[in-house]
Amino acid sequence: MDRARPEDWYRVQSVSDGISLIDEPFIQPFYRCNMWHVRGRDRDMLVDSGMGVVSLRDWVPLVTERALTAVASHTHFDHIGCHHEFPDRCVHRLEAELLANPTRAAILADPYVTDDIFDRLPPAPYQSATYQVTSAPATRLLEDGDTIDLGDRHFAVIHTPGHSPGGIALWEAATETLFSGDIVYDGPLIEDTYHADATDYHASMVRLYDLPVRVVHGGHFGSYDGTRHRAIIRAWLDAKDG
Ligand SMILES: [Zn+2]
Ligand SMILES: [Zn+2]
Repeated sequence: MDRARPEDWYRVQSVSDGISLIDEPFIQPFYRCNMWHVRGRDRDMLVDSGMGVVSLRDWVPLVTERALTAVASHTHFDHIGCHHEFPDRCVHRLEAELLANPTRAAILADPYVTDDIFDRLPPAPYQSATYQVTSAPATRLLEDGDTIDLGDRHFAVIHTPGHSPGGIALWEAATETLFSGDIVYDGPLIEDTYHADATDYHASMVRLYDLPVRVVHGGHFGSYDGTRHRAIIRAWLDAKDG
């Protein structure tokens, strides 16, 4: 398989409302994390940071234009790879240890990361067998009900365990916008990892169902509206509840 050039690795798309989507197009869709950049008055926010196989700071000017708070929706490898590049780092308390000590098994690089997840390999010297994420100890630990304050925009932390113990969603009430991470998105959900919990997952889905959502930006796949949000969760709950 050929290797991509670093300048081609990331794709940046303006979405709306000062929100941009950054992703890694040569990673296959199922493994390709959505990184969400939000422009704020006093500082910007980045929700998740990809696999970390190419520097975000070096190749995506958007993330260096302002002071930036890098939030981890959770600590799987596809979401935290470039967190170490940003001095202001937030994660839920229950996954602080994983962000600080991201061993291959703990962040699911083992077993998921092989050459098969790519359409083009990352630039040299990348190798799937030795892929690692750099330690990025959090500078702020999040709890349910905390706020990420960008000056003019405020995102409430909603603890959404189930996919992983310290998963969070971010809710901007003023715009009815939800960043959902991996607890819910418009594609196959992952409920069977070593630290997944079925009871927590169900409770998180019930909680998110009740939000007056206008738009959802998930951890993977495309964004969707409130009608689709409720349809996805309703179908999931119906399947569980029989
Ligand atoms: Zn995940
Ligand atoms: Zn993910």
